[in-house]
Amino acid sequence: MSRKQSFQVQRLSRSGVAWQLFMQVAGLAAVFLLLGWVFGNMGWWLTLGLSLYLFLQLRNLWELDRWVRFRSVLHPPDLSGHWGELTALIARIYRRKQFHKQRVANLLREFRRLTAGMPDGAALLGPDNELLWFNQKVERWLSLKRKRDVGLRIENLVRYPAFVQYLERGDFSHSVTVLQSDAQQRWLSMHLVQAEGSKQKLLIVRDVTHEIRIETMRRDFVANASHELRSPLTVISGYLDALAEDTELEKTWQEPVREMRRQSERMRALIEELLQLSRLENSGDMSDSQVVDVCGLLTFLRKDVLSLPVRPAEINLQLDSDVCLLGAETELQSVFANLISNAVKYTPNEGKVMIRWWQDPDGGHLSVSDTGIGIAAEDLPRLTERFYRVDAGRSRDLGGFGLGLAIVKHALQRHDATLTIESELGKGSTFICHFPKERLAARDVPIVVT
Ligand code: ADP
Repeated sequence: MSRKQSFQVQRLSRSGVAWQLFMQVAGLAAVFLLLGWVFGNMGWWLTLGLSLYLFLQLRNLWELDRWVRFRSVLHPPDLSGHWGELTALIARIYRRKQFHKQRVANLLREFRRLTAGMPDGAALLGPDNELLWFNQKVERWLSLKRKRDVGLRIENLVRYPAFVQYLERGDFSHSVTVLQSDAQQRWLSMHLVQAEGSKQKLLIVRDVTHEIRIETMRRDFVANASHELRSPLTVISGYLDALAEDTELEKTWQEPVREMRRQSERMRALIEELLQLSRLENSGDMSDSQVVDVCGLLTFLRKDVLSLPVRPAEINLQLDSDVCLLGAETELQSVFANLISNAVKYTPNEGKVMIRWWQDPDGGHLSVSDTGIGIAAEDLPRLTERFYRVDAGRSRDLGGFGLGLAIVKHALQRHDATLTIESELGKGSTFICHFPKERLAARDVPIVVT
């Protein structure tokens, strides 16, 4: 039945009840008026009739009221007419309410059972980050107690500095990983999810100890293997150098020895890049920040590029700010050098490379743009992965291993900076490093550009 139809039925039945009541009163009045007319004193008979009617109505009302109050233990009263209909209607509404209550209770029980068996922890936070509910995993991992902690603000209970900062910052697009302080040394990844338009937040807690251990093992393996390879390679390179300088070396061996030297040099460069990446990945927070003269560094790097025999015709440097950066000079030099060397490598000789350093209210920015081969949109998200090369053959010919941008990414992360890449195939690319304003430092010596 449509809404409109059911509405009409309700109206009909309501007007039907009113008409029924009116007819009852009118019929009763008529009977008692007739009795008054027959026996005399019509007013007295009419009052008697109406009082009787009123008494019956009050008695029905009393019965209904008693049943509504104690309906869980009493049976519905056996009333006739519209009182009976009213009783049936109330009984139906009550049954429906009971049904929905039971359904919600079942759902809640099921939800509790499921969340208790969940491998992840989950907690619901109110508008002021107060704990509204949490499952057993959260209770265990974050040492919370249901009776004691529900209603308290989470930052007063979960005091990991990284988590408190994450909560204060309000950017929940990523998770934060903390090391549990108890004997188990468990790594927990905490992610807050806020539905649009809702003031409540869902905290999802995952045990990522296994992933972190595997990642650490992988890093250690790469670092150790690279380190172990360095010594034998130094010996091989030494003998190859000696052989190459040997004037008595047979002619047939001269070219193979030259090729072996080239390859061993390539291996040395690869090992150096792998070690550099491992150092960046394994070093914790930056504690040895120094004031780095960005203008001086860029001027030096530009000069280096200008001295290359093969390079794009124009290498421009635009310094719109003389502000310095707080960070590790070697790492920043590696970032800038990698970006500039890529721009030079992937831009033809008649092309152009522009380097710009500027400052705005958000912080300091360094852009390296080129008019080179460009990068297809589908390759952009993968560029900073280790060993990712758009055209492996071309990159190899140019001496690349696909590690440069991975080094850039990690070094920037250590400086709280981000990298954005814009590129169009065949037109060129722009790589921009964004440093937060907290990383800027005023320079104390005047800038000299040569
Ligand atoms: P590589 O040592 O191979 O240059 P990178 O990590 O520095 O490694 O760069 C990864 C890949 O990104 C490169 O192989 C190249 O395909 C692409 N790339 C990087 N910079 C540029 C650029 N300025 N123009 C075009 N392609 C680029």
